[in-house]
Amino acid sequence: MQINKISLDRLTPFETPFYYYDMELLNRTLQAAKVAADKRGFHIHYALKANFNDKVLAAIQALGFGADCVSGNEVQKSIDSGFPAEQITFAGVGKSDKEISMALKHQIFAFNVESIEELQVIDEIAASLGERANVSLRINPNVDAHTHHYITTGLDENKFGVPNSELEQAASVLRDCKHVDLVGLHFHVGSQITDMNVFKSLCVKVNEWKNWFEERGTTIKILNVGGGLGVDYHHPDENPIPDFEAYFDVFDKFLERTPQQEVHFELGRALVAQSGTLVSRVLYSKSGVKKNFLILDAGMTELMRPALYQAYHKIERLGLSTETSTLNYDVVGPICESSDCFGKEVSLPISKRGDLIAIRTAGAYGEVMASRYNLREEIRYVFSENVGG
Ligand SMILES: *Cc1c(COP(=O)(O)O)cnc(C)c1O
Repeated sequence: MQINKISLDRLTPFETPFYYYDMELLNRTLQAAKVAADKRGFHIHYALKANFNDKVLAAIQALGFGADCVSGNEVQKSIDSGFPAEQITFAGVGKSDKEISMALKHQIFAFNVESIEELQVIDEIAASLGERANVSLRINPNVDAHTHHYITTGLDENKFGVPNSELEQAASVLRDCKHVDLVGLHFHVGSQITDMNVFKSLCVKVNEWKNWFEERGTTIKILNVGGGLGVDYHHPDENPIPDFEAYFDVFDKFLERTPQQEVHFELGRALVAQSGTLVSRVLYSKSGVKKNFLILDAGMTELMRPALYQAYHKIERLGLSTETSTLNYDVVGPICESSDCFGKEVSLPISKRGDLIAIRTAGAYGEVMASRYNLREEIRYVFSENVGG
């Protein structure tokens, strides 16, 4: 059940702060994505880094999605959670030898390779283990995602992928790597992208690079266009499910491909963000010289996005309010950092110690980024079925 529809007496018994997961919304979101992808023959790998809560993963795995991992432990976690190895991709600019060996032994679907040196290292390790590695070459397409600069990944100045200038060399190294098979091209331009024109530009680049390889006699089986579809942080109740139809439609229309060529996606945020809410209690309210502060028992240690990249999250007072007048608050956490602030000048009903506050759209890059800084307690979570919702 939607967090702000649950009666307060069902939420109050739980110790705060905690993540609340609306499993019904999660399942509806996954279904919507699956229907839209299946219709077009597209494949989805869920990007584990967005949320690897066991129950969330189980729901995603149950629908037959693959997994997209960025560390050896994520590869292991997907396997332990039941994702078939042949549906697991492994990306990241800094894969260690240990991580590469582990993934090779599991015979994962593909490594998304981010540099020429990495290609050579994978080849060597595969040779020593007597394994073969499927790789997709991650190409930096130099497409501006028009998103926050900290979550843009597809520009020449970013550390991700092989730059265009080195592709000639990469193609020649690939021919020398005897334990590596090039199966695809991989692109990922950034996160929280809401402008469909960005994906259209990406398609144009993918077509160009696919043709470039094919002109050199290399067949490309997999076109992996990454993830990045954004969600509506401002209107979680009005837009709980991203428009997967519109998103996949762009690729369906603009990606040139043969019936043999598969299109793969790595969605993270769009699948899980709206299902999660961080629930917190007001510890203190305080009037500063120029400001009113609401001090919560949750902080950047539970949800780091606002402190890390000034991300917006909708903040709500839970429970039916008899208090009609509102006040503008700076909503802050207890951590000893000035950046530990969830929102400035947030209009809320006049609130007091003990009131419950919901920080919405926190299902992606929330719980996974929790830290023990200040020796904070381990993060807690509650599922919709626990509150009878
Ligand atoms: C983070 C990441 C994703 C998922 O991004 P979202 O914005 O959460 O969809 C997909 N692919 C790669 C390579 C990533 O690093």
